[in-house]
Amino acid sequence: ALVLDGLVKSFGSTRAVRSVSLDIAPGELLAILGPSGCGKSTLLRLIAGLEAPDAGRVRLGERDVTSRPAHRRKIALVPQEGALFPHLTVAQNVAFGLPGAGKLFGLRRAAQRPEVQRLLELLHIQDLVERMPAQISGGQAQRVALARALACDPEIVLMDEPFSALDASLRHSVRTDIRETLARLGVAAVVVTHDQEEALSLADRVAVMQCGEIVQVGTPDEVYRAPASSEIARFVGHA
Ligand code: ATP
Ligand code: MG
Repeated sequence: ALVLDGLVKSFGSTRAVRSVSLDIAPGELLAILGPSGCGKSTLLRLIAGLEAPDAGRVRLGERDVTSRPAHRRKIALVPQEGALFPHLTVAQNVAFGLPGAGKLFGLRRAAQRPEVQRLLELLHIQDLVERMPAQISGGQAQRVALARALACDPEIVLMDEPFSALDASLRHSVRTDIRETLARLGVAAVVVTHDQEEALSLADRVAVMQCGEIVQVGTPDEVYRAPASSEIARFVGHA
């Protein structure tokens, strides 16, 4: 399980994240739902180890990983945008995620490995292996980015607004593919979104974030039926 305990992060006088505590169970899909600027990306960067907290701890299972660098956490981040290397093929982009790829062995060879083929098949992008990122759609690019994140065999995948650039029908199919892939691999995920419909339909649990704080956590049903405040009620789609 991933445990966040009192995470705090300020940038100058901006308190981006104020004392966030959360538990994410193995294999669980947790959505973080909140308006623009409420601290969602900062929170993901703290979990991934790309930013150091001013206070608080990050634990993964029995291990305290707060002071570990990002690449030693078994936590993979799919960033908000610009996720693929434009000069590498789809297969090479995915192979880049393999431990030691690019350092221990060439990416061209790594791209042929069975792990890469398997991930491409799981996400229904096996026909795109030789394409460059500029030659695929936004939804396909999201799947490639997730495949690359999964190639490092993480315990948790963090996704920052993964579906925001997609139209409604594509969003639905990419969402379904990603959900099924994570479930099949038993990988837990934290997915950031400002789209209430998306959070409620995608996640096992939803954490509502406002002004740097988690103000409610519950199943989609609980958050929708019993919002903890009138502000949350408005945000999850009540009139
Ligand atoms: P969005 O939905 O628009 O992506 P967000 O919820 O991801 O927003 P963050 O990017 O985490 O929000 O930003 C939270 C707050 O922290 C904002 O007020 C932002 O301006 C500020 N902030 C984030 N990163 C930095 C930084 N590197 N330096 C200074 N301020 C920052
Ligand atoms: Mg953001």
